[in-house]
Amino acid sequence: MSKETNVSAECKACGRPLPISHQGPCPSCGSEQRLFKVNLSDTLKVTARMSWQKTSEATERHPRLYPLLLALTVGAIVAGFLGPIGGVVGAALTLIAFWLGPHAIKTIRQIERGGDP
Ligand SMILES: [Zn+2]
Repeated sequence: MSKETNVSAECKACGRPLPISHQGPCPSCGSEQRLFKVNLSDTLKVTARMSWQKTSEATERHPRLYPLLLALTVGAIVAGFLGPIGGVVGAALTLIAFWLGPHAIKTIRQIERGGDP
């Protein structure tokens, strides 16, 4: 930010420029009236940086593993109703499904960035 101040004086009657320190009547017209002009100027420099980010998300289901995951989940529930051995089988199917999950369903996140460097 920079400031600038200019002060000037002139005769109010005839407009003749006078030194600010001038006293007494105007040398041209004899008037005692003065007009002081104060000019203030201020400059403010603004610098801004612009940037943007776009995030898009999509879920991708594996064409073979995802149906298998659903089958394992349903199978584990059904097996649970088939007595103690079914419970063990159901638990095994659940563990396989737990391991398979991240491979069958993936979240794809795409991030785009732009703007001033
Ligand atoms: Zn004058």
